Amino acid sequence: MKRPKAKKDKEEERKERLRRVLIAKRKEVLAEAKEEIGKFIRGENKQLVETALDDGDWSVVDLNEDINLQKLTSHKQTLAKIDEALRKLEEGTYGICEDCGSEISEERLKVIPFAIYCVECMERREQLEELEKEEF
Ligand SMILES: [Zn+2]
Repeated sequence: MKRPKAKKDKEEERKERLRRVLIAKRKEVLAEAKEEIGKFIRGENKQLVETALDDGDWSVVDLNEDINLQKLTSHKQTLAKIDEALRKLEEGTYGICEDCGSEISEERLKVIPFAIYCVECMERREQLEELEKEEF
């Protein structure tokens, strides 16, 4: 029996491309977070925090009173979203529209890596929201 290999390969390729986009985004956000931290602490401590961040350990940052946490919170949240997206990617549920279950286009995911709806569903939702506003 012949297995439908071509389809599987295509899925794997898409997965690999999406993974690369997410990892690049992760690096970008991490670099921004480190730059932000660098404004507050220097030397040995900075090194310590940076190493911890690479491991995804934010407890060092949370404990460090010198760091302006508010500014870092958005970076932290974005990183959490990326990690979640990477987890979903491994599960095979990333990039799937939560409304209609179809694949979200890669172009869309490159711009909005955390998109959970395809363009059609997003537009439909926006139209619905507009209609609801008009009713009131
Ligand atoms: Zn959809």
